[in-house]
Amino acid sequence: ATQLVWFRNDLRTLDHTALSAAAMKGPVVGIYLACRQQWRSHGHGANKISFLHRGVIALAEELKALNIPLLYRDIDDFDAAPGTLLEAARRIDAQALHFNREYPLDEQRRDERVTDEFTQAGLALFDYTDHIAFEPGELLTGQNEYYKVFTPFSRAWHQRVGADQLALRDTPRRQARLDIASDRIPALAERDRSDIVPPQPSKIQEAPWPAGQEAAADRLADFLRQRARRYNDDRDFPAIAGTSELSAYLATGMISHRQCLQAVMANNGGHLADGDAGLASWTNELVWREFYQHIAVGFPRVCRHRPFKLETDKLNWRHSDKDFAAWCEGRTGFPLVDAAMRQLVATGWMHNRLRMVTAMFLSKHLLLDWRRGEAFFMEHLVDGDFASNNGGWQWAASTGTDASPYFRIFNPTTQSRRFDPEATFIAQWLPELADLPAKNRHEPSAEQRHKTGYPPAIVDHKFARERALEAFKNLG
Ligand code: FAD
Repeated sequence: ATQLVWFRNDLRTLDHTALSAAAMKGPVVGIYLACRQQWRSHGHGANKISFLHRGVIALAEELKALNIPLLYRDIDDFDAAPGTLLEAARRIDAQALHFNREYPLDEQRRDERVTDEFTQAGLALFDYTDHIAFEPGELLTGQNEYYKVFTPFSRAWHQRVGADQLALRDTPRRQARLDIASDRIPALAERDRSDIVPPQPSKIQEAPWPAGQEAAADRLADFLRQRARRYNDDRDFPAIAGTSELSAYLATGMISHRQCLQAVMANNGGHLADGDAGLASWTNELVWREFYQHIAVGFPRVCRHRPFKLETDKLNWRHSDKDFAAWCEGRTGFPLVDAAMRQLVATGWMHNRLRMVTAMFLSKHLLLDWRRGEAFFMEHLVDGDFASNNGGWQWAASTGTDASPYFRIFNPTTQSRRFDPEATFIAQWLPELADLPAKNRHEPSAEQRHKTGYPPAIVDHKFARERALEAFKNLG
């Protein structure tokens, strides 16, 4: 009997838990629901949506090689998912629906409604843990609570993780051809229904972000060959391509965390936490990714625009559209911050160190609500992922899970000297400063600013630091 597999942020055929399990039960048909209005309401911008769209096209090809047809439906939002899936299941006479679980609140609610609809209709439904090693709730503290701090979470993760979590799922064999045709995937710009808002074209070049599982596997292989062993030394330096740049692929599931972890073990004598320091710390980043997924389930308020630390709800954020615009447009007068923001807007990606620096600058130096920054990142990032973005922003704004106190406030100029020592990253993104001596590029003089047209600092570091400390101090 035919099995319907619903693809979401798991756009691959390799190591795909739902696909693998479904194929053991019978012939498979895939389905993808494009939910443009929902994506918009979740703040995803054109770069991410275009990457997703190209990923679905790649998936259709990967499925075709296995003789698996892919149905494609344009729906507005998650409300339309249960009915659309049921109609598709009935049309192909499917026996069951299979999908991999997703954890942000709206996605969980959507899946509950789909489950109800299928149960009422008497159709079977199977959901699986796939995106992360442990189902949220499986790793709890001694008090049976969700971890609020990363380090003990990571310790528990490493203690418990084993073959059950890490074994790669079987890839289905090429099945006999079915009498069901794949749907044509309409071009993003096509308005097939008048009520669907036409998507914006991607604002970034697509070539650096080839979609699909093959591109993802190449990127992983390339990272392991060239950068992984130096990861620990290079990962904090934005001028060096020292990280994997796999985040967009992990966020859309063009590669799985198991594939990444298996690759680590294959190159590290079977170890994840020990052995090569670069590979071990890269593994740790994948655990951070998982940590934030657990946080989204354990503390669902973070999915409702609320802070993880409730007392910070009372924080008196400033309101300044002018300062916000200067941050967005890379005109704060702090070269590292501005270079980073220009990288984000131009490429859809920003180095992790700079995500921390720019997020802290917005929320601490400018004392602007972190949610504005979170939304701006989401709009531009090609790797936009709710849990990681929200987790990263709340960490930086000291409203989140950071174990360090709020008075850790990065000095952007010190960060610049430390992590861009030759100011090469700054020179790349702020061409107006490129001709200055490297040491001045971190903090140009008033005269140099005047000559190059580079703006004065939007705020004095010491003053801003005091203002932020004052704002946080009285929260209790
Ligand atoms: P690598 O260093 O190669 O790490 C490997 C993988 O581990 C990444 O691809 C990613 O999946 C995961 N990872 C690494 N660091 C983190 C982290 N701190 N938190 C969670 N997962 C991590 N990551 C996203 O995938 N999407 C986002 O929308 C996002 N927004 C962020 C916003 C802020 C303010 C901050 C501070 C961090 C954010 N991150 C986000 C996390 C991190 O910056 C990116 O995952 C990383 O820069 C991607 O580059 P990479 O693939 O080369 O990472």
